[in-house]
Amino acid sequence: MAIKVPEIFGSLVFNDEIMRERLPKDIYKSLHKTIEAGKQLDSAVANSVAAAMKDWALENGATHYTHWFQPMTGITAEKHDSFISPTSDGRVIMEFSGKELIKGEPDASSFPSGGLRSTFEARGYTAWDPTSYAFIKDGSLCIPCVFCSYGGEVLDKKTPLLRSIEAVGEQAMRVLGLFGNTGVRRVVTTVGPEQEYFLVDKALFEARKDLIFCGRTLFGARPPKGQEMDDHYFGAIKPRIAGFMKELDEELWKLGILSKTKHNEAAPAQHEMAPIFTTANLAVDQNQLTMEVMKNVALRHDLVCLLHEKPFHGVNGSGKHNNWSLSTDTGVNLLAPGKTPYENAQFLLFLCAVIKAVDEHQDLLRISVATAGNDHRLGAHEAPPAIVSMFLGDELTAILEALETGEVYNGVERVKMDIGVHVLPSFPKDTTDRNRTSPFAFTGNKFEFRMLGSSLSTAESNIVLNTIVAETLRQFADELEGVEDFTGALGDLIRRTIKAHKRIIFNGDGYADAWQEEAARRGLCNYKTTPDALPHFVDRKNIELFTRHHVFTETEMHSRLEILLETYAKTINIEALTFIDMVKRDILPAVSDFSASLASAVTAKRAVSPALACSYESALVERISALTDSAYAAVGRLETALAAAKAINDGALAAAIYYRDAVLAEMSALRTVIDELETMTADEYWPYPTYADLMFRI
Ligand code: ADP
Ligand code: MG
Repeated sequence: MAIKVPEIFGSLVFNDEIMRERLPKDIYKSLHKTIEAGKQLDSAVANSVAAAMKDWALENGATHYTHWFQPMTGITAEKHDSFISPTSDGRVIMEFSGKELIKGEPDASSFPSGGLRSTFEARGYTAWDPTSYAFIKDGSLCIPCVFCSYGGEVLDKKTPLLRSIEAVGEQAMRVLGLFGNTGVRRVVTTVGPEQEYFLVDKALFEARKDLIFCGRTLFGARPPKGQEMDDHYFGAIKPRIAGFMKELDEELWKLGILSKTKHNEAAPAQHEMAPIFTTANLAVDQNQLTMEVMKNVALRHDLVCLLHEKPFHGVNGSGKHNNWSLSTDTGVNLLAPGKTPYENAQFLLFLCAVIKAVDEHQDLLRISVATAGNDHRLGAHEAPPAIVSMFLGDELTAILEALETGEVYNGVERVKMDIGVHVLPSFPKDTTDRNRTSPFAFTGNKFEFRMLGSSLSTAESNIVLNTIVAETLRQFADELEGVEDFTGALGDLIRRTIKAHKRIIFNGDGYADAWQEEAARRGLCNYKTTPDALPHFVDRKNIELFTRHHVFTETEMHSRLEILLETYAKTINIEALTFIDMVKRDILPAVSDFSASLASAVTAKRAVSPALACSYESALVERISALTDSAYAAVGRLETALAAAKAINDGALAAAIYYRDAVLAEMSALRTVIDELETMTADEYWPYPTYADLMFRI
């Protein structure tokens, strides 16, 4: 039966339309006012909203409600309470108060806090974020919430995101004011995250402990075919995958998520979904929800959705492209080149703000995507390199060069404005190659930050983007507010900014080795691994940045660093333990059985006639025995390294570095041996599905 998309779209969301329909007029109005002013709801309004929400939820099959929040685990958290309330005659009625809507008090002691939450005060609280709509998931009304410790320290990803949105909005308003803005009341950040993922058969997934525990394969010989034929990218979608994608779309639409584009990606079994962008806060919530829905829908098709950024060695990993822009409440995209020279001057200033922000805070952008999983991807020859640079396209770059030198730009018809810079009546949309290798690309009317791993929450990157651009806009506004000759000062500021920060602009091939050298000459950061990048989070300049804009306190920053370092070490620790288990308990016994069978074959043959040829069996027994011994020794070294890692007690950074240098190195040595063993062990003996099975048997 054909589904009616407009009818199902948003049917599980308590959105603005439903609120207008169901709330008394004055309540609806005052809710809107509080949302816009960012104030606390008064209790009469809260009670009324809660009652309407509950009625709507019950009609849509919900029995429970939950505060839905985003602790530092990177995933979402929920604790469900039913609406039931007992009556004196032994029955129940369904109740939900304004207090329950606004505030929850979950025990915070089991969420990562990086030392913030002292054990005697384990309570935390969640508070409704009315800028993100409530929705129904699996019979529960989910209320998007922030999450803090009882002392008010932030324990989640949403609170700093909301603060950063406010910060950049405030500074952008100042800049708009310089251009004589009148109609705009608010500037918001818009985000559209493109989400890559792999799908594998559920039964095959379940046969691999590494996929179950780590989300990625820890070993696996190269299959005869990888992605070299480029036949998967945009290829026809297999029926089983198409079935998954269809249901995914429907589920996302019901949740009000604007799922728009779906296609096969470069690696076998890899796919992508891109939604239409929306405001940053909603986009971040919805991306978390999208990842969850992807996993659930996959299971219904006997598939497993892998969101790890590098599930398979040798083919592309999965990323998430964070498309980002600034927009006014009147619907003007501030990163879209305008139609008139005057609009273009404003565009150029916002563009310069982003260029300066990215150059001055390359470290923070790199840190926002630094995880153990993403380290396998960044810098390999498929994902963006670990170096942050910006792609602007040839046309825009030439325009900026002309502005900087004061020379005439001859690309397209040029007009000279009296702001003292040469500006174009309209910028042609860049027609050159999109440059897939750039980590931070201007794509016509938005920036596309491409370094995120597919499993990451988009919160961190957007917190950083919003805050660093808030800071440069602040500096620009400080400089330009109240100057007499605005146009002269503007031209001068634009020129100086381009001159000082053009080193960050790179339109060439980001995968090339030559770029590594060139970037070093330009003095750009190149933090290859997570432990290289993370410590810079608490550099003085970064503490000043985040505290100035009230996004994080200094204590919160130290706690976050601690959590990130610990997560890195824990991730590798789990991987190493899993690998040891698989090798010792499954692979070595299987390989030993196989070589024993070969050896018996030799004995049996020789019993028939000592002259019978046995070179295949003998050679293989010899090679497998040698490799088995190497594997056994390598497991021993990995165990020793793990024990040493555990014994490190001089801080999370020291441990993280040891995991990277010793544990990962031993894992990689072990992998080499295991992968070779796989290629020579008979199929029936090898205890795990191979890469060929996982990527091609769907
Ligand atoms: P591209 O081909 O450059 O990737 P698309 O139009 O396919 O461009 O957009 C990719 C993603 O960028 C989509 O998720 C889209 O919604 C998002 N996007 C487009 N415009 C904006 C914007 N102004 N702000 C944020 N995201 C945007
Ligand atoms: Mg894109």
